[in-house]
Amino acid sequence: MSDSSNTDLIPADFLAILRCVNDAHPRDDGVLRIVGKTLVCTVCGYAYKVEDGIPNMLWDEAIPPSDSTPVCS
Ligand SMILES: [Zn+2]
Repeated sequence: MSDSSNTDLIPADFLAILRCVNDAHPRDDGVLRIVGKTLVCTVCGYAYKVEDGIPNMLWDEAIPPSDSTPVCS
């Protein structure tokens, strides 16, 4: 695994098709962006961990915005 660049977290074309699974907003609106080692929803702010290049899109394991730990930037 390399942590040299956030853009290496997952392929850009993979990121482009992923959407936040929060029922609070339309699925298509839930565009994700890479923040540290997580994917953060641009709408609701929930974060999804990425492990070994695989995003964990389980809602039960999503990190609420208020609980997310600051990521070194
Ligand atoms: Zn969301």
